Amino acid sequence: MKEKLMALQEQALAELKKTKTLDALQDLKVKYLGKKGPLTEILRGMGSLPAEERPKVGQIVNEVKGVLSQTMEDVSAILSREALKAKMASEKVDITMPGRTHLKGHLHPVTLTMREIKKIFMRMGFEVIEGPEIENDYYNFEALNLPKDHPARDMQDTFYITDEYLLRTQTSPIQARTMQSREPNSPIRMIAPGTVYRNDYDATHSPMFHQVEGLVLGEDVSLADLKGTLETFCKEMFGESVEIRLRPSYFPFTEPSAEIDISCVICGGKGCRVCKNSGWLEILGSGEVHPHVLEMSGYDPKRVKGYAFGMGVERIAMLKYGIDDLRLFFENDLRFIRQFK
Ligand SMILES: [Zn+2]
Repeated sequence: MKEKLMALQEQALAELKKTKTLDALQDLKVKYLGKKGPLTEILRGMGSLPAEERPKVGQIVNEVKGVLSQTMEDVSAILSREALKAKMASEKVDITMPGRTHLKGHLHPVTLTMREIKKIFMRMGFEVIEGPEIENDYYNFEALNLPKDHPARDMQDTFYITDEYLLRTQTSPIQARTMQSREPNSPIRMIAPGTVYRNDYDATHSPMFHQVEGLVLGEDVSLADLKGTLETFCKEMFGESVEIRLRPSYFPFTEPSAEIDISCVICGGKGCRVCKNSGWLEILGSGEVHPHVLEMSGYDPKRVKGYAFGMGVERIAMLKYGIDDLRLFFENDLRFIRQFK
């Protein structure tokens, strides 16, 4: 009987050694230690043994049971650990893998240019003032020396909402609005950026575009200040090597008036297609504020003088980035827009 039990133990241990899974281990438990297993069977059959052998056999059966139970527990611990390891390996995350990126937007070239213009003037001590896009006839034209029958109104045809209200054609109305909101004759140094509208559409005109207006008033402001300020602006915007020139011009709200040209940023002044071989590019309009404009807004032209200027933001952006068609800004073609990330 003892040999039989020892052989049984050897066989069970050999099988346990080969066990690879917890399920297989469970099967072995049932097979050797279960109610229908060989050990139970031997215990059940004890009655047929001679009385003096029974305790001995019972002891050996219990020893075998003990050895097998202990071994099964050890194998179970090993297999559990391995199963956990395998589970963790299968759930491992590769933190070096590139993530899913979100498409991030970026600023439009017109916004970028607008911000750059504002920054340059703010560094020179200008305040930034905004005004309404739906403007009345008085501020858009009359307060700027453009009475109802003035021929220069024809150059600024716009979209009328009523006979009185229209989409502003320029940011200049903010000049009069600001003067009238201040103590008369008090100094002003401001720019007014914003969207403006005209009834135009071609490669260099859009029905909606952007302007930055500037106004400087004070008791001893001169044309030299105008030239110095705008030269500084042009050099900061287009580079230190840029030259400027003032060319006599006409605007109803300034006298004298001047167009400001910069030396061509494409050819450096030698002459090219962009500057039409002149070596110069028109960049903004300016002039000394007309005495009548000052008077209409309660300023005394004998005490206060000053200058005003206005520039098209798209024009600046086109020259800065070398863009040849203004319509590209507003067509929302991402192949174009994405170049300004
Ligand atoms: Zn050129």
